Amino acid sequence: MELSAANHRLPLNDGNSIPVIGLGTYSPPKSTPKGLCATAVKAAIEAGYQHFDGAYVYQNEHEVGEAIRVKIAEGKVKRENIFYCGKLWPTKFDPEMVRPTLEKTLKVLQLDYVDLYIIELPMAFKPGDEVYPKDENGKWLYHKTDLCATWEVECHPYFTQPKLLKFCRQHDIVIVAYSPLGTSRDPSWVNTTIPPLLKDELLISLGKKYKKTTAQIALRFNIQRGVVVIPKSFHPERIRENFQIFDFSLTDEEMQNIEALNKNVRLVELLMWSDHPEYPFHEEY
Ligand code: NDP
Repeated sequence: MELSAANHRLPLNDGNSIPVIGLGTYSPPKSTPKGLCATAVKAAIEAGYQHFDGAYVYQNEHEVGEAIRVKIAEGKVKRENIFYCGKLWPTKFDPEMVRPTLEKTLKVLQLDYVDLYIIELPMAFKPGDEVYPKDENGKWLYHKTDLCATWEVECHPYFTQPKLLKFCRQHDIVIVAYSPLGTSRDPSWVNTTIPPLLKDELLISLGKKYKKTTAQIALRFNIQRGVVVIPKSFHPERIRENFQIFDFSLTDEEMQNIEALNKNVRLVELLMWSDHPEYPFHEEY
C-alpha cells in the first residue's frame, strides 16, 4: 500500500485503521512548561498528523484533549479523522477499575471516546491513587492480576524486533513502535550505555543521500515495513520534520542495511521492576 501524507492509515483486522505516524506526548511533567503540549498537538494537526499517543499518567492529557477540540472547532479536522490512544496505568488493573478509569480519561480529554485504550505496562501495581506505590522501606508494591493483554513495543533501528514482527505479520497484527527515535535519553529511565541512535553513521549517510534528517530516515525505515511510529517532539519544526517521510523511499538494500544495525538491546529496560512476577522483558520477545 502506498502511504502518503494525506492517506497513511494501515488497516486493522477488525475493520478499523490506524495512522502510521502519531505524535508521542510524554514529557517529564515537572520540567515541561504548561501549554507546551497543547501547542505541540495543534502544530501536529496543522502538519497533517491524525494520531496522538497519550496517557493519564503523562499529566498533560487535558492539553492534548484541549488542542484536539480547538482544531475541531476551527474546522481543521474532524473527530473521526483523529486517532487517540489512551492508557490504563498499572494501579488500575482490577477489572472493576477499568471502566471508571477510562471514564476519567474521557472527562480529562473532554472527548466522547478514545480510538485505542491499552495497558500501559503489563505489570500490576498495588491498586489505589498512588501512581508509584512503595512501602515504608521504599520497596515497590506489586499486585496480582490476570493479565491477558498485549503491551507496546520499543522498536527502532537498534532494536528492530525481527521475531516479533514476523509473528505479528503472520497473525495480522500491527505493531506500534514507541521511542522510534531512540528516546530522549533521560538517564533516570533510559539505558544510556547504548549509543545515540540519531548519531548513527549509516542513518546520517542515508540522510545525506535523500536530503533528509537522521530522524526522518529512522522513521521511514519503520513505516516502510508497516510499523506505526509515535515520535515525540514538542518543537513545531521537528513535529513537521518527523511527518515529512512520505516523499521518499529506501531501497531494499538500504532497508536490509538498517535492519543489520539491530543490537537486540532495549533502551527502555525498566529494571527497577525486573523482580515483578510479570516483568515482560525476561522473555525473548
Ligand atoms: P522518541 O524516540 O520519540 O524520542 C523523543 C526525543 O527525540 C525527544 O527528546 C525529542 O525532543 C527528540 N526529537 C524529536 N524529533 C526529533 C528530530 N526530528 N530530530 C532530533 N531530535 C528529535 O522517544 P519517546 O520515548 O518519547 O517515545 C515516543 C512516545 O512513545 C512517547 O512520547 C510516548 O507517547 C510513547 N511511549 C513511550 C514509552 C517509553 O517507555 N519510552 C512507553 C510508552 C509509550 P524534543 O521534544 O525537544 O523535540
